[in-house]
Amino acid sequence: MRFLGCRLEDVPVARRGSVVIIGAGPAGLGAAGRLVCRGHEVVVVDKMPEPGGLLIFGIPEFRIPKDRVRAGVAELREAGVEFKTGIVVGKDVSLENLIREFDAVLIATGTWETRRLRIPGAELEGVYGALEYIVNYFLAKYGYRPLESVPPLGERSVVVGGGYTAVDACHVALERGVREVHLVYRRTRREAPAGPEEFKRLEERGVVVHELVSPKRYIECSGRRGRVCGVELIRMELGEPDETGRPRPIPVPGSEFILETDSVLEAVGLRPTPPFDPGTDHGIRLNRDGTIWTDEFFRTSRRKVFAAGDVRHGPSKIGPALKSGIDASQWIHKYLVGELKGWPGL
Ligand SMILES: Cc1cc2nc3c(=O)[nH]c(=O)nc-3n(C[C@H](O)[C@H](O)[C@H](O)COP(=O)(O)OP(=O)(O)OC[C@H]3O[C@@H](n4cnc5c(N)ncnc54)[C@H](O)[C@@H]3O)c2cc1C
Repeated sequence: MRFLGCRLEDVPVARRGSVVIIGAGPAGLGAAGRLVCRGHEVVVVDKMPEPGGLLIFGIPEFRIPKDRVRAGVAELREAGVEFKTGIVVGKDVSLENLIREFDAVLIATGTWETRRLRIPGAELEGVYGALEYIVNYFLAKYGYRPLESVPPLGERSVVVGGGYTAVDACHVALERGVREVHLVYRRTRREAPAGPEEFKRLEERGVVVHELVSPKRYIECSGRRGRVCGVELIRMELGEPDETGRPRPIPVPGSEFILETDSVLEAVGLRPTPPFDPGTDHGIRLNRDGTIWTDEFFRTSRRKVFAAGDVRHGPSKIGPALKSGIDASQWIHKYLVGELKGWPGL
């Protein structure tokens, strides 16, 4: 996968401005690959032990071969991009200090927190946020932590959701040896963000897909207090389109039924995760959904600070995230060479 936007031999030697990019997913890598070609000093900081973001730690190998991502990162390194991994901005390093230290900052930290269902039993042991579980599993799979540190999922697992995270949680459950994987989704596969093809692939691997159902509560084991043993589901029917344009799922009264399970992976949405220091937003305005507000030039409400990728536009796909990083890099470059004047609201 190529992130460098020019030939290696065309990367300028002299450095113009300095940019720190927080987040080494497709948005951050795409921006790094353009800015270094424009002759800027580029440092990429990421909390994970290696760059790649969800390309490495979220998406399964069969969809994105990891050696291709790693080759793209290696080329960026060769071009002079510096990577600092294993550093959580906002915790190990202060965002405020980075803003002070560099000529420009690009925030590209994605959406690294699962939205959780607020239903009875959500706190039971064995109920996990799917993204957190997947990331932990990949960390173990690539040798960054012991596999024993990732909790086993048992014999049966229920995955809730209809997007890539839900689909990939099913693949991870199968890889972990779960015998019976159930995917429950409140609409039909036609409306699912992952698309019907992904559902079909899951069924071919033995996953039982339940469309038009939603969890109502998680059931505690009678013999093991505090541990999940089942999910009460309710059937849904589709109504008029909601604000997303998709038909609204409406619960069918009296249609409840129970699925026994040893674990649950919730994948019902992801939350944007800006790398703020504790107790401050640094003057960086957020939209109502938690994404970072920017103007059309990718400028946040804080001078010097730009944002791109899923943390700016919400959960998306590799293509839009990569494009967003590349687009942002053009405006960062113009800012650094003095061609982008002023700042929104200032
Ligand atoms: C499980 C899963 C499967 C998916 N499968 C597909 C697919 O098959 N095809 C597709 O097109 N899209 C897929 N997507 C969506 C796609 O992966 C994302 O849209 C894309 O990766 C977003 O790119 P990004 O650069 O904005 O953020 P990310 O790829 O999320 O990268 C953000 C980076 O920021 C780092 N970071 C976060 N917080 C901090 C911090 N405080 N300090 C330092 N670093 C930080 C993270 O470690 C990460 O490396 C999938 C998403 C998920 C969750």
